Amino acid sequence: MKMDRRGLLRAVTGAAGGAALLSAPRLAQAAAPFQNNIPPAWYRFKHGAYEVTVISDGRLPLGKPEPAFPASPPSEIRGLLEGNFLPPDEATLEQNVMVLNTGRQLILFDTGMGDSMGADGKMFGPTTGKMLNNLRAAGIQPEQIDLVVLSHAHCDHCWGLVDASGNRVFPNAQVAVTEADLKYWTDDNNKRGPAFMTAFIEGAKKNLSAYRDRMIMVKDGGEVAPGITAIFTPGHTVGHSCYAITSDNRTMVYSGDLAHHHILLLQRPRWEFSFDTDPKLSAQSRVRMLDRLATDRHEVLSYHFPWPGLGHVAKAGDGFLWVPEPMNLTG
Ligand SMILES: [Zn+2]
Repeated sequence: MKMDRRGLLRAVTGAAGGAALLSAPRLAQAAAPFQNNIPPAWYRFKHGAYEVTVISDGRLPLGKPEPAFPASPPSEIRGLLEGNFLPPDEATLEQNVMVLNTGRQLILFDTGMGDSMGADGKMFGPTTGKMLNNLRAAGIQPEQIDLVVLSHAHCDHCWGLVDASGNRVFPNAQVAVTEADLKYWTDDNNKRGPAFMTAFIEGAKKNLSAYRDRMIMVKDGGEVAPGITAIFTPGHTVGHSCYAITSDNRTMVYSGDLAHHHILLLQRPRWEFSFDTDPKLSAQSRVRMLDRLATDRHEVLSYHFPWPGLGHVAKAGDGFLWVPEPMNLTG
């Protein structure tokens, strides 16, 4: 039976009821004010016997993508971004800091941008440097951190080690870093090349020197803590390292800056990235490691991929695909 609107009203309310409905008080108009704020960003899950908390340091805007991939055809960059429903004229990265609670140690992987170099010293603007607030919102205090493990010594990974006065933000923590990165990024002789090098070296010196009496030198294949093994993947920096975290026979790899963009550098893993110390070596490390991650089907936590950076790598033609893992918000 077909029924028009008036007929439906009659059927539902009856003749008298229709009049009552029309004179009923007005329903709420949902005219609530906008909140105009952003909730804290952290995400918690189990990895074997360990508890993992991902903490956001905020978004890192790279700006126009072409200068970041100087050897890549601009039309191909644009095509890949548009094809994946991303704005073609700006590339944005997340910063997914990881806290691992092994039951015996609380370990922070990278620190985010921090504010050690002052508000004007932030390399990528005011949307970064949110890690400490989000860490506290997740119920973790910086004094509780036992160990900070660095994937490498760039600004968005180690500039949160100290505050603007140079005091340690993690007063009870040791810091694990490769000797290669420690040497390179605290050496004034390397203040050449792109303009950002001087700032990178000044920032690394300020942040790392505060922990010089409590450094752990990371070795390729060596453990930084029980069950946590370094995998050297040099190129982005001379000592860049991923970390394999194994518990209950499950391995998750914290991949740091192995790949910065989940579309561009997975589908075109041989592309060169402008912030790489050695772009060709970086591409080799990326292809080798992505291949291993796909073959071994390891869970991956990627520092710069879309929040919270958790997923898997799959082989796809000549490159790879990023397959995000569904978030589980109920445990
Ligand atoms: Zn980075």
